[in-house]
Amino acid sequence: MAEIRIPFNRPGQTGLEQTYMADALQRGHLSGDGYYTKKCNALLENELGAGKVMLTTSCTHALEMAALLLDIQPGDEVIVPSFTFVSSINAFVLRGAKPVFADIRPDTLNLDEKQLESLVTERTRAIVPVHYAGVGCEMAVITEVARKYNLAIIEDNAQGLFARYEGQNLGTFGQMSAVSFHETKNFVCGEGGAIFLNDPQYFERAEIIREKGTNRGRFFRGQVDKYTWVDVGSSYLPSEILAAFLYAQLEARETITAKRKAIFEFYRENLAEWSRETGVKTPTIPANCEQPYHMFYLIFGSLSERTAFINYMRSRGIQTSFHYLPLHLSDMGRQWGYQEGDCPVTEKLSDCMVRLPFYNDMTRGELEEVAETVRAFSGGLVGIQ
Ligand SMILES: *Cc1c(COP(=O)(O)O)cnc(C)c1O
Repeated sequence: MAEIRIPFNRPGQTGLEQTYMADALQRGHLSGDGYYTKKCNALLENELGAGKVMLTTSCTHALEMAALLLDIQPGDEVIVPSFTFVSSINAFVLRGAKPVFADIRPDTLNLDEKQLESLVTERTRAIVPVHYAGVGCEMAVITEVARKYNLAIIEDNAQGLFARYEGQNLGTFGQMSAVSFHETKNFVCGEGGAIFLNDPQYFERAEIIREKGTNRGRFFRGQVDKYTWVDVGSSYLPSEILAAFLYAQLEARETITAKRKAIFEFYRENLAEWSRETGVKTPTIPANCEQPYHMFYLIFGSLSERTAFINYMRSRGIQTSFHYLPLHLSDMGRQWGYQEGDCPVTEKLSDCMVRLPFYNDMTRGELEEVAETVRAFSGGLVGIQ
């Protein structure tokens, strides 16, 4: 097996992370909600026009907070695409919810909004649109259905920070949304996330849930003279050391996005002709979406073609990566009676798609090598030794 020379992902640094982390150490406040956490929260609130932003220990934890804030009860139903990361729905299942899996659109791989209404029942509480690759779901339709049936929208915006749909920032459509700063995302701090609260009715309780069910936030602001246990909650605050790392990344958002844009455009231009000749598809970005350049994927005609492609790339030292296995066919998903054929587009595309190497500091040489190697693969015939 050839040594991997071009990995699928390599978390990027801007150069200021260590400076800010050293400053955080100097400030002597290492737990959560200090100087850098506040700076990150404020930057995101100002930049995005979200009501309130709170850093969390992960996107998964932001989603868990959302489920607690909605007071999801056993038997409640939550609609989610089958083609997503497990946390999009596990956060709600932890509270006893039943997942209702929607199929995806073949163009954007986002929840198929046309099927949404048929999945709503009397028990439905929430819809979790996942902006795949940070390309916005059809929020006009999703918002309309949510309004008609009085459902909450919790956007899983793990991949779409700073992206827009119809000119509006992703993450600001739902009552709440969650982003991720995991090392595989555009802006990273190793492990981390944030919850966006777009409805003021959740502000106070979110602060309590995030602080172990206590009113410690009010205590620190001098609004109560001691703090105590007032609600359920957990520990969802990241350390200041991580917030300092993240602040360097968020400050550099324009540079990071420009680098990623150049990578996406390079792949698109250099694979366009090959894509036309072979019929292998590249990403579709609808005109009403401004994307964050999170990933570049290919969609082959079959699982065997894709497998051949991954092995072929690997034999040339290039790591590619498929993505989500359909959740409705997982061991957990099947417990609710789901089976093959329930989400046919998800089942097909999950087998056929693969993501190319994509990281901020990819060199021109690496990009050229990947594109050349891809072009030398024709439909599974070349390159299989
Ligand atoms: C990465 C990701 C998550 C999980 O993020 P963590 O910060 O690792 O918890 C959830 N949903 C989607 C769609 C993701 O891409």
